[in-house]
Amino acid sequence: MANKVLFSNMAFTAYEAEQTLPRKLERQLLASGLGDRVKDKTVAIKVHVGSEVGYTTIPPVFMRLLAQFVKDHGGNCFFTDHYVAMRHPEHRGYTQESLGAPVLDVAGYLGKYLYTKEVHLKSFRHVDIGGLIHDADFLIDFSHVKGHGCCAYGGAVKNIAMGCVSDRTRREQHGLEGGLKWDGEKCTHCEQCIAACNHKANSFTKEGEYTINFHNCTLCQHCLKVCPVGAITKTDASYLDFQKGLALCTKTVLDTFEPGNVFFINLLISITAMCDCWGMTTPALVPDIGVMSSWDIAAIEKASLDQITWEKLNPEGIPVGITLGNKGHLFERLHGKDPYSQLGFLEELGLGKADYTLEMVK
Ligand code: SF4
Ligand code: SF4
Repeated sequence: MANKVLFSNMAFTAYEAEQTLPRKLERQLLASGLGDRVKDKTVAIKVHVGSEVGYTTIPPVFMRLLAQFVKDHGGNCFFTDHYVAMRHPEHRGYTQESLGAPVLDVAGYLGKYLYTKEVHLKSFRHVDIGGLIHDADFLIDFSHVKGHGCCAYGGAVKNIAMGCVSDRTRREQHGLEGGLKWDGEKCTHCEQCIAACNHKANSFTKEGEYTINFHNCTLCQHCLKVCPVGAITKTDASYLDFQKGLALCTKTVLDTFEPGNVFFINLLISITAMCDCWGMTTPALVPDIGVMSSWDIAAIEKASLDQITWEKLNPEGIPVGITLGNKGHLFERLHGKDPYSQLGFLEELGLGKADYTLEMVK
């Protein structure tokens, strides 16, 4: 049976607060059954606190009403993310006073409170789970949906796999990226490969070493094709390994919760090309879409992706000079990576079913 995703879009028929997204989210929470499940529980609400001058992380008004909902239903909640202190969430309006719940680091004040689980996926070996996530009874994964250079899409999975863990775990997951290899013996340093890259993804270090930033790289292979001496070649590593790593990490984190104790909310507004980690905001790729919630992570991710369509593209959301690909999802055209491929990995690990039914909440 297809899993249910509650969806409220941006449509309104009158200038009434009741018809706007925060109130619609409140009605989704009531319809979801979340209230009965959080009673007498410690509830971690995982968000992205952003950094620097980014201004499109989740607006405080949504967070405040979610915290109030949990408290009204007998739960004890806190907001959480990694590197909380050094990223100054208060600069983006995230304080206990404004949100009605504290904003805490997943790994404690010093960032060292972690529980390690072993995994085996190529070089990915350790999932160091933030102690506050591990110890909470219940998790609300509250994600701002946007693009992501390494895996095309950042939503519910990315919010957990990159945000509930240690630096070591993030590093090991990023270590799964790849797809291109450089041979320094063959290279003549003609720099044709640098000129051929329209994503600013490759460069030479001061020492003359070729480096690729896989966050920006769309794997278009222009660099490989222009190289006159064949110094750049493909490898069998790929962004799919990174997506697989994200799914495995998510599964490992979610396994610390009793079944039925994790709820997902995806906010589909200000959908930018890149992740909130960049500490900046660029124009939205598409008009605001709405908000979704579900008990199923694969279903909500698929439903979110399905709403972000190529036809709605606002070209101002794309850096000037970047040429988009001509097939697949908007995020695939932009980042060269198929965002849907992550869903299969979630299903293989038993993390829900991507097949969903959308239930409108007005
Ligand atoms: S594959 Fe394309 S995006 Fe990646 S470094 Fe080469 S030219 Fe740049
Ligand atoms: S195009 Fe080939 S030879 Fe020229 S700098 Fe790039 S890798 Fe080296």
